[in-house]
Amino acid sequence: MAGQFSEAIQELKLTANIVDVISEYVSLRRRGRNYVGLCPFHAERTPSFTVSEERQAFHCFGCGAGGDVFTFLMKFHNLSFMEAARELARKYGFNLPEAPGDDQSRRERILALNERAAAYYHRFLKELPPEAPASSYLRKRGIKPETIERFRLGYAPDGWDNLVRVIQAAGVDLALAKEAGLVSQKGERWYDRFRGRIIFPIRDLSGRVVGFGGRILGQGEPKYLNTPETPVYHKGRLLYGLFEARLALREEGAGLVVEGYLDLLSLSQAGITNVVATLGTALTREHVRLLKGYTKNWYLIFDADPAGLKAIFRAAPLFLNENLFPRVVLLPEGEDPDSFIRQRGQEGLLELLDQARPIFSFLIDQTLKTYGGRGPEAKVAVVEELRPLLASLIDPIKQDICIEELAERLSVRKDHIYRALESSGRSSASSSRQEGFDPFGEALLAFLVNHPQYFPEFADLSPEEFLRDEYRHLFEAIKQAYSSEGQFPEALFFEDEKLSALWARLRLSLEEEDRPDPEVMAQELRRSLDRLRKKQALQRLLEEIRLAQKEGHQELALQLLKQYQGLCLQQAG
Ligand SMILES: [Zn+2]
Repeated sequence: MAGQFSEAIQELKLTANIVDVISEYVSLRRRGRNYVGLCPFHAERTPSFTVSEERQAFHCFGCGAGGDVFTFLMKFHNLSFMEAARELARKYGFNLPEAPGDDQSRRERILALNERAAAYYHRFLKELPPEAPASSYLRKRGIKPETIERFRLGYAPDGWDNLVRVIQAAGVDLALAKEAGLVSQKGERWYDRFRGRIIFPIRDLSGRVVGFGGRILGQGEPKYLNTPETPVYHKGRLLYGLFEARLALREEGAGLVVEGYLDLLSLSQAGITNVVATLGTALTREHVRLLKGYTKNWYLIFDADPAGLKAIFRAAPLFLNENLFPRVVLLPEGEDPDSFIRQRGQEGLLELLDQARPIFSFLIDQTLKTYGGRGPEAKVAVVEELRPLLASLIDPIKQDICIEELAERLSVRKDHIYRALESSGRSSASSSRQEGFDPFGEALLAFLVNHPQYFPEFADLSPEEFLRDEYRHLFEAIKQAYSSEGQFPEALFFEDEKLSALWARLRLSLEEEDRPDPEVMAQELRRSLDRLRKKQALQRLLEEIRLAQKEGHQELALQLLKQYQGLCLQQAG
């Protein structure tokens, strides 16, 4: 990265406010001069995720994640540095010049193409006559015109190459459309992926169309077809409707998870807008972390069929491991949220939510039902079934509460369940690598990342004087930023995730209160450095003396000893 691009990045970093960016994804509240929230990168109950506006850094005291605004976006959305920079540039209306070797991000071009396709499908639907099958289907499902607008629903017409021709007419490379998952190729022939389907555009957290879900009209397989994995579409990290629901989720402090597009649309039309839907896939850990960023109170509304139950069983450990305790709503047999809300309305649903079971109680109910009866075999089977789940609970108190509930329901003693848990042998082998202990290096770097203007006073340090690799790298980065003209050390940024985390940790490590005057701190550090160097020089001398004696060079040993004594005197004086 050089020149113009690098400067633009620096400027972007000085403009972007890390608190604004992070609070889009994590509920932050003020604590002293900083903001805190629940860490999106590890499971926790009390907030140790800290964001400093003043220092434009975040750091989690729980898992050690940390960095600047770029690092956050990279980690949170799994982006490359370049992608994170472009995302940020877009948010702040920056025009990022092309980076050397960056082919104007294929990602951006795919997004632009998706936008074009969404507009095409949407217009096509709206221009259909009311008697067209697509129009009458949506009408029958009770989908209102406002909903079609709000969610930009569309229709992919029947036929093999409608979109192909639109793309060709626009002069866009079909290979790009293939990469976007919009078209396929067989031999010489190109054809549309979505044909004769109602189209549900899927947006990312910034509202951009990253993919599509398509429901077939009438009979045909598969009933639902989604965009395949593309550079911008990762179904394990996307939830339908999250973009539209984000404000309502914050306002309500609670949210609903449903399984289908139409379920979500029906609820939304009934005035329940704090809803997201899975994209025809099982919930993933990334999904749950995404959800957690909005609220801790979730309701899972699933069909009462075997598939729905299986989905809840699979989702349970994901939620519990993130210390979320969602409630489960089972709809009356044969109903889905769509049909239910159309019959019973918002009130009916709220009633149902009131009766929602905490997920663990729900799972006990279901397991008991599966194994039937109260005999000893059934009890053993139930414990066996729920054991992995119990073992995965991080918080011992909540684990105990769950075990207590299970013991009570089964009329067995708690310690029996504990014993069953122990026999599953959870081992928590923590492998901590030995690294150099370097308190001075830590203190100096913490000072320099907060007061880079003092760098010249320490410019004589060589990286080798630090005892840890990461300290060496950080020092070199600061040195480089300082010595290359036109760069602001305040705007240091790192493409390297580890380095960025270190930077953030150090940046937040100086306590606000009783932080002495930087001038005084610089002097103290300088004195420490001098002391340290002398000590090291003495140590080296001692080693040389020992070596000289061992090898029989008495004269040399004596000479070195004199030198040593001189140094000792100097230090004392
Ligand atoms: Zn964390």
